[in-house]
Amino acid sequence: MRAIRDRLRAYYGRPRNEPHHAPLDELVLTVLSQNTNDRNRDVAYTRLRARFPDWESVARAPVQEIEEAIRPGGISKVKSRRIKSMLGAIAEDAGTLDLAALATAPRDDAIAFLERLPGVGRKTAACVLLFSFDRPELPVDTHVYRVSSRLGLIRPKASFLVAHETLRAIVDPDDVYEVHVNMLRHGRRICTARNPQCESCPLLDLCPYGQAHV
Ligand code: SF4
Repeated sequence: MRAIRDRLRAYYGRPRNEPHHAPLDELVLTVLSQNTNDRNRDVAYTRLRARFPDWESVARAPVQEIEEAIRPGGISKVKSRRIKSMLGAIAEDAGTLDLAALATAPRDDAIAFLERLPGVGRKTAACVLLFSFDRPELPVDTHVYRVSSRLGLIRPKASFLVAHETLRAIVDPDDVYEVHVNMLRHGRRICTARNPQCESCPLLDLCPYGQAHV
């Protein structure tokens, strides 16, 4: 794992996490990013923030007002309901919309709390903890999954949940953000789904899949 980390670091650089301490923003962005591209997601998010002064106001607002604000992000009827029910579930479970306690809560409690929220799975929970608070959870998306699988870091056909736990166990906590970002870059640029460029890959000699296919 460290050899892979070092190769990717030499190739892509060493990204540094800058935790934003805004877990609700992260959760709402996740809902808004469903079935759309980053640009439309960002337009919807900006409109939502411009329309409401804080998340408490969003939680209290009629769902039609939320829907109107996020319309450019697509399937706004579904997303507005999701956002409202998620904020409602947080307020009910935590007693507040302030999630700062997730920064220091025991790991299992923090994950369990987030995964109880409607529509939140392990990847989203990991995104919230990593990007908001720099907690060492490695979000496994389709790119991270594919690259890890080809490299033999996770067992064939492992579930995303097992992949998450496996990578979490083998990546040094201080490297989680870096490994996540660089595997994502690698999956988008070189280790693509249909046409991986194994011949020019900096990981070729470490990769069982690449060795078998060049
Ligand atoms: Fe992906 Fe091929 Fe590189 Fe392995 S050698 S990581 S399969 S691009």
